[in-house]
Amino acid sequence: MSAFLNDRNSTVKVLKMSGKIEKFNQESVIEEFESITKEAGRVQRETLRKILEENSNAEYLQRLGLKGRTDLESFKACVPLVTHKDLEPYIHRIADGETKPILTGKSITTISLSSGTTQGKPKFVPFNEELVKSTMQIFQTSYAFRNREFPIENGKALQFIYSSKQFKTKGGLTANTATTNVYRSKEFKNTMKDIQSQCCSPDEVIFGPDFNQSLYCHLLCGLIYWDKVQFISSTFSHSIVHAFRTFELIWEELCTDIRDGVLTSRVAVPSIRAAISKLLKPNPELADSIYKKCLGLSNWYGVIPELWPNAKYVYGIMTGSMEPYLKKLRHYAGNLPLLSADYGSSEGWIGANVNPQLPPESATFAVLPDIAYFEFIPIREKLEEQELVKSLSTIVYTESEPVSLTEVKVGEEYEIIITNFAGLYRYRLGDIVKVMGFHNSTPELQFIRRRNLLLTINIDKNTEKDLQLAVEAASKPLADEKLEVVDFTSHVDLSTDPGHYVIFWELSGDATDETLSGCSNCLDQSFLDAGYVGSRKVKAIGALELRVLRRGTFQKILDHYVGQGAAVSQFKTPRCVGASHCVVLQILCSNVVKSYFSTAFGCT
Ligand code: AMP
Repeated sequence: MSAFLNDRNSTVKVLKMSGKIEKFNQESVIEEFESITKEAGRVQRETLRKILEENSNAEYLQRLGLKGRTDLESFKACVPLVTHKDLEPYIHRIADGETKPILTGKSITTISLSSGTTQGKPKFVPFNEELVKSTMQIFQTSYAFRNREFPIENGKALQFIYSSKQFKTKGGLTANTATTNVYRSKEFKNTMKDIQSQCCSPDEVIFGPDFNQSLYCHLLCGLIYWDKVQFISSTFSHSIVHAFRTFELIWEELCTDIRDGVLTSRVAVPSIRAAISKLLKPNPELADSIYKKCLGLSNWYGVIPELWPNAKYVYGIMTGSMEPYLKKLRHYAGNLPLLSADYGSSEGWIGANVNPQLPPESATFAVLPDIAYFEFIPIREKLEEQELVKSLSTIVYTESEPVSLTEVKVGEEYEIIITNFAGLYRYRLGDIVKVMGFHNSTPELQFIRRRNLLLTINIDKNTEKDLQLAVEAASKPLADEKLEVVDFTSHVDLSTDPGHYVIFWELSGDATDETLSGCSNCLDQSFLDAGYVGSRKVKAIGALELRVLRRGTFQKILDHYVGQGAAVSQFKTPRCVGASHCVVLQILCSNVVKSYFSTAFGCT
């Protein structure tokens, strides 16, 4: 057996022999990955043993009666499956300053805030060094595979990354979003250097207090280093699309800054101004060239390769709730390949994209068997109606026993359970994945959706994916008017009798009433779930309503989340706005310009 089992951070180890950072070695990283995935079952059991051993004195595990045992059978017999809600009392005691071992052997000193866009408010999640290490391991692994297919030269990356506001919990622990915790670590800087991914912008821009000023400066730095940029990236691809939508509005101002060598007064944060002034020198030639290139573009098609001719690809998470932005991303990227990034969460990483050549729509993630212990609850799709217990917002299936990483079956869907090195044991992440194949003996997963139902009134059940497909189908006629859906969300309106679905759209321009009426009918007909169709036919659910929003509404929603401490880097538009998102619902409702009721199942 190779040496990795003695050190689960094997990839990191490759880089740090004898305490000295050695040059990143692509082939060694791939070799290590091949090695751990060939023995995925054994590595998983060893990983679980280490987690339980390191944390055997944690109150949580002691209370469950584990008594220092580290074997799989005792673990499964003593430790229950939990959700975030179950662990909340423990996490809050940690955040309130209790220093004794509560969830982990070593006390937790930092808290991560999840993006909070699915539940309405950010969740507290324990964070520690182990999560930083696994992040670096994932970054190195996917880079090694990516670089083999799409090699880059030594240069820079135009990265749209942003930190969140940092604050202290009641007990004095630092709280940030998980991405910010990672960006602040020294390992991040070193790894970015190793994998030729150094950001064009100085730290003052990444850690700036105002997201809009940081975005402006990311674009400016990208243009200053136009010939060095090897790729364009962000954590979630929404940030890239958002950046280029903004670029369409401010490109002339950027040209003026470059021409004169003077930063616009819209960037007011002194630390950012000071950092940028070191890079920005009058460069009329560059300004003219950018100006000419922008004028020559047709509707901004291919702006990325036009302005960054040495860029090899666009990189970021493009799967799941990011899929609706792919069309716009392809438009901006022109002929450049879109490479979808890895799969993880504030609770920990899961898998790396080791097949970067696959288009984002079919991207898969090979699970790294040494970063956490994983279990999978089979999701049985075709349940008998009586087997299904339904609550308002969640489908609760009659559940099968979780299976291990190596027991999952190709073609089946599962809910992921994670046990990590930062105090989460048999934790239901809330994501549904499908097994597409195996890389050696570790599964390659495709992200399917969040577990929660989005839209349900009585026996209907529609998920995030169903909504996404309905919007995709219904927005097709807009293309004839050269329009697109900028962003969308939904709401269940129970203030009418019967209740009905409301879909909110922000459009890139004005569409005719005729087109939008057609779109609302098409939306209504695109929810194919039998419960919905049946309820619509007997009028147990009212006509679907399409509400068109004023331009800029989703920017207001983003600003609202950022104001609450969320980081743009982890932002995901909430796809259903319910009672727990009351401010967002207010923003939406006060920005409706027109509304259209479907007549697809006859008039209401
Ligand atoms: P958060 O920790 O709140 O920023 O978000 C983590 C969640 O983002 C995960 O549980 C997934 O639902 C989603 N996510 C993360 N990575 C991916 C990916 N590669 N593809 C699709 N969804 C993802």
